Amino acid sequence: MRRAIKQSWQPISGASLLALAMLQPLAARGAELPVFDAHMHYNVEARSLLSPEQVIALWRQQGIKGVLATSRPNQGTLDLMATLARDKNSDILIVPFMRPYRVQPDRHNWFSNPEIEKLVEAELKRGVYRGIGEFHIFGKDADAPYVARMARMAKERGLWLHAHADEDAIERILRHAPGVRIIWAHTGMSTGLDKVEEMFARYPSLVGELSYRGDIDGGGKLSPRWRALMLKYPDRFVLGTDTWVTSRWSEVPDILANYRRLLASLPQDVAEKIAWRNGFNMFSEK
Ligand SMILES: [Zn+2]
Repeated sequence: MRRAIKQSWQPISGASLLALAMLQPLAARGAELPVFDAHMHYNVEARSLLSPEQVIALWRQQGIKGVLATSRPNQGTLDLMATLARDKNSDILIVPFMRPYRVQPDRHNWFSNPEIEKLVEAELKRGVYRGIGEFHIFGKDADAPYVARMARMAKERGLWLHAHADEDAIERILRHAPGVRIIWAHTGMSTGLDKVEEMFARYPSLVGELSYRGDIDGGGKLSPRWRALMLKYPDRFVLGTDTWVTSRWSEVPDILANYRRLLASLPQDVAEKIAWRNGFNMFSEK
């Protein structure tokens, strides 16, 4: 679809170099596939450089129509939602996920820290979150009692999980709570595609997220192996920017341009599903 580019991104006085860097690639942007960004963090470190208004303006300029938002701390996500809610032209869907981290080091031991369990319970009382994550978990750590409890609780409450995990941890979580819905961050990062394909066949509740998957690019085109997998499971993949460090924000235009270029080699309906329809469909039903 063709869409006019809104010039809603206004430089502010004292705009950072980062913000200016974001401006550069925007002028030449033409027809664009809409995007649902299924892996976004608005972490505390980014906030001194980008206000919620600037993040939302960036989304608009980049054709991002929906965002799975997860931030450390969670206030980043809540502030984006509040800012968008004040905007009468609200045209972006924010799907909030509860991140079980207060500070960066929590990623290493959140699953064995009683304080995190309290944080999760308290945050979920807000009643706004559609899932928990992104969290990091590898191997036998996924058998920690809290991971098992959290997975079962997520399944009971109809919440998604967003896991940066190896295949072993994904399978352990799915043994704790068969059928729990999981977005697998960076699908295939440490897992061969044969195993990924086997897991997609075995676990219908598993959705693949594609940030940091350099191998989907087969020399400027979608690699044949990834193309075959996407054609086999067109409803099971989503895209993400993964703004996990502040510098990543300035790369968002290039990240999206690369996704759009690669998806252009797929049939239009499959490209649209992976770019945005899957994300909207996943969260349109309660
Ligand atoms: Zn991430």
